[in-house]
This record gives sequence, C-alpha cells and structure tokens, in this order.
Amino acid sequence: MSGERRWHATWAMLPDGLARDVVLEADAGRFVAITLGVPAERAAADGAERLPGVVLPGFANCHSHAFHRALRGRTHHGGGTFWTWREGMYAVASRLDPDSYLQLARVTYAEMALAGITSVGEFHYLHHQTGGRPYDDPNAMGEALIQAAADAGIRLTLLDTLYLAGGLTADGHAPLEGPQLRFGDGDVQRWAQRLSGMTDHTAGGPAHLRLGGAIHSVRAVPRDQLRRVTDCGVADGSDPLHIHLSEQPAENESCLAAYGLTPTQLLAEEGVLAPNLSAVHATHLTDSDIGLLGGAHATACFCPTTERDLADGIGSARALADGGVRLSLGSDQHAVVDLIEEARALEMHERLDSRQRGRFTPEQLLAAATAHDTIGWPDAGRLEVGARADLVAVRLDSRRTAGVDPAQVLLAATAADVDTVVVDGREVVCEGRHRLEEGRRLGAQLAAVIEPLWEGVSSAGPGAAD
Ligand SMILES: [Zn+2]
Repeated sequence: MSGERRWHATWAMLPDGLARDVVLEADAGRFVAITLGVPAERAAADGAERLPGVVLPGFANCHSHAFHRALRGRTHHGGGTFWTWREGMYAVASRLDPDSYLQLARVTYAEMALAGITSVGEFHYLHHQTGGRPYDDPNAMGEALIQAAADAGIRLTLLDTLYLAGGLTADGHAPLEGPQLRFGDGDVQRWAQRLSGMTDHTAGGPAHLRLGGAIHSVRAVPRDQLRRVTDCGVADGSDPLHIHLSEQPAENESCLAAYGLTPTQLLAEEGVLAPNLSAVHATHLTDSDIGLLGGAHATACFCPTTERDLADGIGSARALADGGVRLSLGSDQHAVVDLIEEARALEMHERLDSRQRGRFTPEQLLAAATAHDTIGWPDAGRLEVGARADLVAVRLDSRRTAGVDPAQVLLAATAADVDTVVVDGREVVCEGRHRLEEGRRLGAQLAAVIEPLWEGVSSAGPGAAD
C-alpha cells in the first residue's frame, strides 16, 4: 500500500452524482477524505496532483479468460462461426505453459489497467498440462495469473473453474478429449482438493487476490456434480460463484433434451442459484428463467463485445434488471478490452433490440461497469471515504470527448481516453502509459508474446494446424 496521496479533479462522479472541484485523499490504499469545491490552484498549493477530465471509480472486469487475448483478429477466416472460434481457442490453449501464460496474462492485464480496470474476475480453466497431467504444482497456471495481475498492478479474483465434460447431448455428457483434457480435474472432490492448496489473502496470501469458484457451464458439468459444488465449500456464502449460462441456443436445446429443464431451471433445482452467483452472458432466457434469477438476487454478467463478436444474440438486460437481477460487465474473450465500450454496448444493444433509447441511464451503466462486489471486492467501486482508493481519469479534451457533458462520458469515450488509473492508492497508469511500458510500449510487448503462439498455424485457420 502507498502512503498518503492527494488528487484534484475538476469533475468527479461521486455516489450522489457529478461534483466539481473535488479533492480526493488516500492513505494506506483507502480514501480518507473527499472534499468538494476546492479550486485547482488551492489544491495544487496543498500538494494535490491535478487529474484531467472526469474522474470515475475504477472499473470491474467481471469475466475474463486472459489467454483469449491471443485470439483477437485471428478467428474471422472464412467468416468464422462460434465453433471455428472455439477451435482457435483450443489451438492457443494447447501451446501455453505456466511461463508463457505469465507473459501473456501480464500484458493482457496491463491492457486492462490502461482501460481503467482495477479488478478482474478471471474465469480460469486452463489448469493442467496438455493431455491432462497435473503440473508438479497443480496450481501452477493459476499462480501464473496471480503473478501476472500483481505485475500489472490490478486486483485479481481467481474464479477457478470446474470443467468435467466435453459437451451435452440428449444422451448425456461426452468425456473430455483432445485440448479439453487440460481443463479437467475428474470430479468435484479433486477440484476442491486442488483448490485447497492455493492460499488467498485470508490465509496470508497476496493482498491483491481473492479466490472464488466457477462452473464452466451445464454443458461441462453433469447434473449430479452441480449440487456438490455448493456442498464442497469452494464458493459458499459470500465467495463469488460464476457460470456460463445460456450463451447459445444450442445449450438450451441440449439441456432441455437431456433433463427436460432449461439451464437456469436446472441450476435452481440443484441449489446453485444464490446471491453470490453470476450468470455469465444469460443471453437466451425464458421469462421463467429471468424470474428465477431475480428471485435468487443473482447477477447477470453481460459481455456485449464478445456476444456480438460470436453472434450469440442480445440478452434481455432491461428485463433482467427490472426482474431484480444485478448487472455486471466483462470483456470475456478480449476481442475488445474497453469497459466503457461494454457499458455503452449494454444500452446500444438494447436500443437495437427494442427500438427505444434511454433503456439505461448513464448512472446505471456506471453501476454495471463497477460491480466489484460481484467478484468479491465489496469495498471497491465508489469514490467515497472508506472505499478502496481506485480511480480512473477520463480525458475530456480528446477528439472523441471534446465538448462532452462529463455526466455522459460513458456514451462517448473509449479506453484510449483513459489518462490516469489508481488502484488501491497506487498510480498504475499515468498520462496514458502503464508502468510496465517504461522500456517498450504495450503493443510491442503483446505482439512479442502472441505471435509465437500462432507460428505454424495455417492462414486457412487454426483448425488446419491440428
Ligand atoms: Zn467466458
């Protein structure tokens, strides 16, 4: 944690709304004072650093698969389908080991920091060696992610993922095969046992880390194992539990054929729906599904730039919110790493679908972009005394944002307008540069890590490399 710091913002988005000439003071990683109406000159004389533009709370990226960053701009050959995209994902997954994953995740998380993201929920299923044999340290890949987030200066919630089956048909679950063998622990007990070897902050582990659990999907976890997840103590009480839910209609069809239930109904019957559950995507839901999620006070994590990239469809965000479901946001496969764009897309996709404007207010979009509590950081995401000292200064003088009402900046800016990012009182991004960029700009670092992963893969598509 850093010592005492002080910043001046001409505009700051406080819990009560936009405020002018705000001094934010932090000590030991927390805001200790927030004072309104202090002119910039007086604040500067008092040692405050002047921030440009409008200052927002740090963003929470609630759904990430760090290694998918290597897929950006690589999966559109021949048009590409969800399933050819998945083949490319498997090709990259097959090439990573703990060292190369550390390199890739470090620059991916640095890209997130540059976009104003201060906490990331990493839905982690790349557990074992190719073929499925555990590493000597069975959590070596998770440890690489923990180190990567520390290097990039952001907080990490490691949502260690249970992945047991290769798919679901009317006849039941298929076994894991090929690239999927790396993802599997065999059963819930062995998964929980592996996780028990990882120490989080509560057991003296790193302060930037929280542990949570994830069920990959009803496609990858058979019904008899679902209830055992909540019984095994991995994600009980307030620990976050995440699951991919109804991203594609095919999942609903196979779940109905196998069980006579929608995926949401199956989770309800097996006791998985609870306030700590985040249903990722939640794209193809029935009205009854929405009622079940709302009744459980669960969260729906939308990943709009991924959902449009993969042609998933448009989820019912407004209906979910009206039904009592909390909304959060994630960049998922990182076709785009820009939480401002994800927040804007929540509203824009609703507009296309409903042919109405104003489905969400800018305040509601900011709430979705700062849902840190849904990944285990309830004391982050607000510019208020006592909260974690996270902030994002978004410039209002770029060619994108010049003339913008600061209260509506999420409807105009992009990640490229992020100037300064503070995480737990420490400046991680300053004047649009990440602290890891002192020697080399991040683009060059990303290229140096990603391009070798694709060596030998035919331009006809990753499937051709198999
Ligand atoms: Zn995902």
